[in-house]
Amino acid sequence: MSGSEAADAKKLVRSASGLRMVPELRAARSPFGLDEPPWVPDKECPRCMQCDTKFDFITRKHHCRRCGKCFCDKCCSKKVPLPRMCFVDPVRQCAECALISQKETEFYDKQLKVLMNGASFFVTLGTSDKSELMVCRLSNNQRYLVLDGNSHYEIEIVQISTVQILTEGFTPGEKDIHTYTSLLESQHITEGGNTRAIGMILQYKVPGSEELTQMKFTASEDYTSNKKLSASWLAAMHKATKLLYESRDQ
Ligand SMILES: [Zn+2]
Ligand SMILES: [Zn+2]
Repeated sequence: MSGSEAADAKKLVRSASGLRMVPELRAARSPFGLDEPPWVPDKECPRCMQCDTKFDFITRKHHCRRCGKCFCDKCCSKKVPLPRMCFVDPVRQCAECALISQKETEFYDKQLKVLMNGASFFVTLGTSDKSELMVCRLSNNQRYLVLDGNSHYEIEIVQISTVQILTEGFTPGEKDIHTYTSLLESQHITEGGNTRAIGMILQYKVPGSEELTQMKFTASEDYTSNKKLSASWLAAMHKATKLLYESRDQ
């Protein structure tokens, strides 16, 4: 079976923070995953790290599952899903972390499905001047980009070193401006607003080779509906890349 679609065995793990469903092999974990933070030790936090209320027998302390800091019940009352840490149920988080996790819920509920459903692109490999129409999608285990056309490619997400989303901006009264958006500057890409994603350039390592391979994706312009789908897929990829940088940064 190809590595991209292998069903990864999972196991239930109970930590102080809650129940988690994690892949048995660390190598099989999602590239968007985050490690559980170490908890700030009880003796190091006599007061709530947000509102400074002193902890005592009545004011109990709680740890935020996302940042590991100590808070009173009022400052850490929200239970929000945290799929990046593989928690089965929503977990307690401080206000700041809850907001971030809520925003990520949109990615997990919507954009991840868009990525897995796939979209078609003209794909150019390296410096070749030939392109091939291919369907590109994220594998179910989130670890590979799978491309299917006459050729077949599987790019492991952890081997991708850079992602550039190519956008087309519409400024009123001006001609369309083509801009290159680096993901490190987080310019917002909408799915129908002023800036539309029209392509992507990936650089990645092929195992066994030290050199980077480049692949360019251009949204197919044959049908309006396909173009919209490709733009949504690229917007989802834009979001996915931000999560990826965070996961690698931790
Ligand atoms: Zn507090
Ligand atoms: Zn927090």
